[in-house]
Amino acid sequence: MKVTVFGTGYVGLVTGVCLAETGHQVLCVDIDEAKIARLKKGEVPIYEPGLENLLKHNVSAGRISFTTSAKEGVAFGLIQMIAVGTPPDEDGSADLQYVMNVAADIAGSMQTYRYIVNKSTVPVGTAEKVRKTVESVLEKRGVNPGFEVISNPEFLKEGAAITDFMRPDRIIVGVEAGKDAAVMRELYAPFNRNRDRLMVMDIRSAELTKYAANAMLATKISFMNELARIAERVGADIEAVRHGIGSDSRIGYHFIYPGCGYGGSCFPKDVRALAKTAESSGYAPQLLHAVEQVNLNQKAHLFRLLCSHFGGKEALSGKTFAVWGLAFKPETDDMRDAPSRTVLELLWQAGARVQAYDPVAMNEAKRIYGNRPDFILTGDKESALDNAEALLIFTEWRNFRIPDFETLKRLNNPLVFDGRNLYDPDLMEKNGVTYYAVGRGRTH
Ligand code: NAD
Repeated sequence: MKVTVFGTGYVGLVTGVCLAETGHQVLCVDIDEAKIARLKKGEVPIYEPGLENLLKHNVSAGRISFTTSAKEGVAFGLIQMIAVGTPPDEDGSADLQYVMNVAADIAGSMQTYRYIVNKSTVPVGTAEKVRKTVESVLEKRGVNPGFEVISNPEFLKEGAAITDFMRPDRIIVGVEAGKDAAVMRELYAPFNRNRDRLMVMDIRSAELTKYAANAMLATKISFMNELARIAERVGADIEAVRHGIGSDSRIGYHFIYPGCGYGGSCFPKDVRALAKTAESSGYAPQLLHAVEQVNLNQKAHLFRLLCSHFGGKEALSGKTFAVWGLAFKPETDDMRDAPSRTVLELLWQAGARVQAYDPVAMNEAKRIYGNRPDFILTGDKESALDNAEALLIFTEWRNFRIPDFETLKRLNNPLVFDGRNLYDPDLMEKNGVTYYAVGRGRTH
């Protein structure tokens, strides 16, 4: 099938490349000229494991190509996928300007029937808005080539995006009343061989399903973080509690890790946008607000522990701290809303300096923070420790997981603040390291 994908970010590019890999013909459109120029050369502008090889392979097989011309994109695919960003607006609701721009672009030049498939995460009712925009542009043009709007939210995880797309848990398809999902069955047939993963529903339910999934996952994290804070006060170890509750098959072990808060481009904005949707439909979403509040509080938790260790915020001024992990999670360079950023900014406000290392997010950190004198990016994790007062860990990259006590001696004092509970507090103590983690009662 011929497919056009608008947006070549984490979702659009992975979608395009994976569809091409199974034999579809794909044209990707983006308004970012620099990105398209790099993609045309076979370069991947983001870090996503496996993506570069797959891209190169499909570019040379002639199954995927790139353009900045929306018109070319509209002329190409029977299926027009929208995978552009939906960042938060000032009031927390999803900003739909990019989605609506693409809808207008499609309507502005389509000549024959088109399926307009929305992959971006959008509030309930967006498909309706897309439909109206397309209708009004077509009316102005005085043409009626026919079209259908389909909701097809994406559930891939950054860091495992290729596997998630190739072997999805489910493929959600929302169709208008009276329409079937035959075209989507055909599109996704290569990903749907093992068992039928395609779930067809009405459009509003499909749109809400995406928010429900992210809000549920965020809720699990905030619940565990709240429990961790209780554990700290009552002298319990949240890691023991986690194992204890995970063994209950109704609860399970997935996604119940306490830590320094959730970040990334999805959970924070989607929890807020869902709360906004609830409010504008007349329902006060108490749980969703609490999930967000617990998270905002948790993101500053390591900083508070640091302040209390040193005897106040003022004491941090002029000191240097080492940071391991800048990305919001391992296997990605994405730093959008990352917990590291909350603490970096608090440290700078307090007059401290930071020496940081991340296996892949260094360029992204440079792009965000520029060359500030109080932010040094080091070439390896070891040199981040030199002359630093303490180590702060924000991302559970695999190469941080074994405590290397020789390396930790490069710190001025063996002092670690671990936002991901990577180490065994007993082992740290035995090796003379003062160790703060999240919810591990004995250290507080
Ligand atoms: P992104 O910011 O990485 O990429 C968006 C891309 O769209 C950018 O390259 C931008 O230049 C491009 N764009 C903007 N306007 C355009 C236009 N008019 N025509 C063509 N391209 C245009 O975003 P992302 O992380 O890929 O997310 C896209 C959507 O998917 C969002 O709604 C997000 O919530 C959702 N989503 C993201 C993830 C994830 O893990 N990142 C997972 C599932 C769903």
